[in-house]
Amino acid sequence: KDFRNKIKPNWCPGCGDFSIQAAIQRAAANVGLEPEDVAIVSGIGCSGRISGYIHAYGFHGIHGRALPIAQGLKMANRELTVIASGGDGDGFAIGMGHTVHAIRRNMNITYIVMDNQIYGLTKGQTSPRSAFGFKTKSTPEGSVEDALSPLELAMAAGATFVAQSVSSNIKQLTRLIEEGIKHDGFSFINVFSPCVTFNKINTYDWFKEHIVDLDEEEAYDRSNRTLAMTKIMETGSLACGLIYQDQTKKSYEQVVSGFKPEPLAKQDIQLTKKQFEQLVAEFR
Ligand code: SF4
Repeated sequence: KDFRNKIKPNWCPGCGDFSIQAAIQRAAANVGLEPEDVAIVSGIGCSGRISGYIHAYGFHGIHGRALPIAQGLKMANRELTVIASGGDGDGFAIGMGHTVHAIRRNMNITYIVMDNQIYGLTKGQTSPRSAFGFKTKSTPEGSVEDALSPLELAMAAGATFVAQSVSSNIKQLTRLIEEGIKHDGFSFINVFSPCVTFNKINTYDWFKEHIVDLDEEEAYDRSNRTLAMTKIMETGSLACGLIYQDQTKKSYEQVVSGFKPEPLAKQDIQLTKKQFEQLVAEFR
C-alpha cells in the first residue's frame, strides 16, 4: 500500500501542494486501497502535476476538464476510487461549469481543489479566488472583483460533502480525504495551498491567523445545512474541517437505472459474433 513513486515533484520548495500529495497518499493507504484501485485525474496548472507524483493510475487532463474525465472513468469502472484534483483557476474559471454540474450530479468521486488564490504556473496572475484589491501582473492596480467562495458555491450546487482545510494541517487534511473517499457521493474538499513564490498575501502565517477550525467546536452539527451555510458566512468562507455532509441523498450510481456495479470491461456484452463484428465495422 505504498502510494509513493520515484518521481521528484518540481514544485517550488515550500509550495503547499507537497502536503496535499502526501495527504492523498496517506489517506488512500489508511482506507486500505491498493495503487491499482485508485485513479488520480488532474487538470492544468502547478497542481496538475500531482497525477504523475502518486503511485496509482494517473491522468493529466486538459485545462478545466479533470472532472469530466474523472466522471467518465467512474462510469466505466465503478470499482475504481477516483480522485480529481486541480487548482482554483482550473476548477473555478475555465472548469466552473463542470464543477457545478459534477457537484449536483453527486457521482462517487473525491474532488480536491488545490486553492492558492493565484495562477502560479503562468507566473502570478489574478484568479477567481484572488481577493478584491489583490495586486498581480494582470491587476497592477488591484483586482476589482471579489473572490469567489468555493464553500458557498458547493453548497448552492447541492453538494453532499463539503470540507475545507489548509495544507499545513496534514493530519486534518488526511482525515478529510479519507472521509471523502468513504462518502457515497461527490466529495468537495477545498484546500488552501499557499503559493510561496507568487502569492505573498495568503501565506501559511496568514491562514494560521485567519482560519476557523470547526474540529474545535464539539457541538457543531455537520448534517445541518442551515448551520453550515451560517458558519460559512460568519467565517468569511474560512471555516476548516468537515463543514457539511448529507448521507441521505443517493449517489448518481444508485439512481441511474441499468448502471451495473462491475466495470464495463468485465460485463457480458451479450452480442453474437456477427453483431459484434457489425458494431466494430460501424466504428471503423
Ligand atoms: Fe507552488 Fe506557486 Fe511554485 Fe506553483 S509557482 S509550484 S503554486 S509555489
